[in-house]
Amino acid sequence: MSTLLIATRNAHKVAEIQSILGPTVNCCALSVFSDAPTAIEDADSFAGNALKKAHTIATWLDTIASLTRIDFILADDSGLEVDALDGAPGIHSARFAALDLHTGNSSDADNNAKLLRLLHEIPKERRSARFHCAIALFPMAMTSTPLVFEGTCEGWIDFAPRGKGGFGYDPLFIPAGYSESFAELGEDVKSRISHRAMALAKLSAALGKDGALTIP
Ligand code: IMP
Repeated sequence: MSTLLIATRNAHKVAEIQSILGPTVNCCALSVFSDAPTAIEDADSFAGNALKKAHTIATWLDTIASLTRIDFILADDSGLEVDALDGAPGIHSARFAALDLHTGNSSDADNNAKLLRLLHEIPKERRSARFHCAIALFPMAMTSTPLVFEGTCEGWIDFAPRGKGGFGYDPLFIPAGYSESFAELGEDVKSRISHRAMALAKLSAALGKDGALTIP
């Protein structure tokens, strides 16, 4: 069985990843290590940022590795790509509204308001978008190559927010094949069709039946 350290302090994400990968893998939360460093996410792609997060934790953990039984670091980076905005907000999804103010991250409400403002004259047929997720798997045995698994979820951006569930751009995103927003559809549907679920399904397929990962 492989032990994966999930490079996030979001307990919900850790539980989601553990449930999709199943009981043959042991997922451990970063909150176990209170002094773990935070990576600067300045790469120009989701994959680059996911690798950077995983590499930062792996390098730090290496200094105390003899004390741990971690086999891999798993890190993800995700966001929304809107075709009419040439792929924005993309890797800037968390701080889309704050980009104008040169501050840190912005609130979901501010990000959604900016998105609606930029799309206000765009008709439905040109409001196509997708959520994109990259998951990096970084082996603690640094002689092996890191792997990246990517997943997307296609859909379109509605004209006004709908629904109370989810987070981020969920109230504005209508996945292909549905008429409700991610915020209305809820976790059961989202965890089957989301960008994260698609990327995790690819990682899951790379797992052997005994939960062991074979890295070339
Ligand atoms: P993270 O890399 O998963 O932290 O996501 C970065 C940003 O992308 C979030 O702050 C959200 O604005 C947006 N985002 C990523 N995944 C989702 C999702 O499933 N629903 C809504 N927004 C998301």
